[in-house]
Amino acid sequence: MNLQQIVDDTWNTLADQRGCGTLATYIPALAEVDPNKFAIALATPDGAVHCAGDADEPFSIQSISKVFVLAQALERQGPALWDAVGREPSGDPFNSIVQLEREKGIPRNPFINSGAIVTTDRFIDDRGPEDAVTDLLQRLRRMARDDAVTIDERVARSESDAGARNRSLAFFIADFGRLLNPVEEVLSVYFRQCAFAMSCRQLAETSLFLASDGTDPVSGQVMCDPIRARRINALMLLCGHYDNSGQFAFEVGFPGKSGVGGGILASIPGKAAIAVWSPGLNRSGTSMLGAMALGRIARQTGWSVFSGESMRH
Ligand code: GLU
Repeated sequence: MNLQQIVDDTWNTLADQRGCGTLATYIPALAEVDPNKFAIALATPDGAVHCAGDADEPFSIQSISKVFVLAQALERQGPALWDAVGREPSGDPFNSIVQLEREKGIPRNPFINSGAIVTTDRFIDDRGPEDAVTDLLQRLRRMARDDAVTIDERVARSESDAGARNRSLAFFIADFGRLLNPVEEVLSVYFRQCAFAMSCRQLAETSLFLASDGTDPVSGQVMCDPIRARRINALMLLCGHYDNSGQFAFEVGFPGKSGVGGGILASIPGKAAIAVWSPGLNRSGTSMLGAMALGRIARQTGWSVFSGESMRH
């Protein structure tokens, strides 16, 4: 199978739909991004990366960061993390507060905002916010094999300035006594993790551990235990696109995580990690063109976590 050709064909076939969808204007800095950007990077465990379009241009990874923070929070807390956050799809928008009251401050899953605020809190643990951010930055640089991975402080400030909803979620959880750290410290990490600027190439390389039982197959670096990688993939499939997760599983069939910067990360266990970027979003915050690109790659490769044939080695 010629993966470079599939990536190129996918980019060329969809390129005239660049600009579709709506930018995430609720974070003012994201409203300034060029809506015509479009990138694909597909990394395989042998170290190859097949790219098309703006694949070396950094963009705001936003909620894709929730995957990396979950992996690290699990490594720090072990199964106790699941006392603080659930593992069920929410069926509600990413920033919804409605379930939190009924479910006593325990968010449905680690990928909605309320759940990610809790995993960020547990990732910080007892070391303070600055050490936690430094740890994440160093880890992502190592995984991407690229010290250019950085935090876009302007995006982080922009989100913090417009962050009333996330503050509401965090204070609501804190009121149930379910945060270990002060709300503003947790949010200072959350806003910065969302503001990581990475290219599709860097993201695909960083995420190969998800397709490779928790270990980066190129460097041998362990990101998490094999069973945890499997479970993170399960959660990505069920919850990675908020109230659009069923549709994404139906159309694409890969575990994936969206970000309102227009990136989507997908993992195909045993096969590849794919990052796509196109800033225009659908109503659930998933990149419109990005989801189309992943659907096309799924059809062209025959890959799907639901197909026994295509998953055979
Ligand atoms: N930083 C975003 C927020 O909290 C993340 C949402 C997303 O990327 O889906 O609103």
